[in-house]
Amino acid sequence: MAVPPHTTGAGRTTAGRRVLPSAVMLRRADQGWLEVISGPMFSGKSEELIRRVTRYQLARVPTQIFKPALDDRFGTTEVVSHSKLSVAAEPVETADQLLHAVLDRTVVVGIDEGQFFDDGLVDVAAALAGAGKQVIVAGLDLDYRGRPFSPIPDLMLRAEYVTKALAVCHRCGGPGLFTQRVVESDELVVLGAEDAYEARCRRCYNPDEMVQSTFAV
Ligand code: ADP
Ligand code: MG
Ligand code: ZN
Repeated sequence: MAVPPHTTGAGRTTAGRRVLPSAVMLRRADQGWLEVISGPMFSGKSEELIRRVTRYQLARVPTQIFKPALDDRFGTTEVVSHSKLSVAAEPVETADQLLHAVLDRTVVVGIDEGQFFDDGLVDVAAALAGAGKQVIVAGLDLDYRGRPFSPIPDLMLRAEYVTKALAVCHRCGGPGLFTQRVVESDELVVLGAEDAYEARCRRCYNPDEMVQSTFAV
């Protein structure tokens, strides 16, 4: 059988450069991984997730975006940033439900507000990445008391790529890495935005601020 003039038929061009067999290239493009975008509220996590996912959508790469059903701040079928960017999303109750909602053909799986999922999200994200999906999880790494906000820290440890975003401290304009709750509540989850939380830098953050004002009255 005639060999195309520009190759030897053995994976090499006539100029001697290596040409990868297409099966190898496909396998490489297929490889899955896990990306985490973490940081406090207002640090641009959702914005960054939307930016990354939208670029894949423009390139016609099959994507699916998920959000926890409990986060209904901006409607249930969209991820919306504080800067009003949005992308369509599927609400799910649990990590297991998310796993079963991912279609075979999907290449990119975006997940917002990862901290509102159960710890099962760590194994689910790893399983999806192992199955060749590109998984991007955005979520708070610290809760309003400055404690690790499960399951984001574990996801960060299991991820190939981690982006730690900073907000602008609402008090002084410095690098905001904490989320300060400015309403009174001991609940771990209080949904809200500007009315309930501020981004604060290391110097302006005070996890006991609400507690102190409670004692003062
Ligand atoms: P996150 O998902 O991390 O809470 P978003 O992506 O929803 O953040 O919102 C980021 C946007 O929020 C910024 O681009 C900016 O327009 C707006 N924003 C409001 N307050 C702040 C702040 N203190 N620091 C940074 N961005 C802020
Ligand atoms: Mg967000
Ligand atoms: Zn500050």
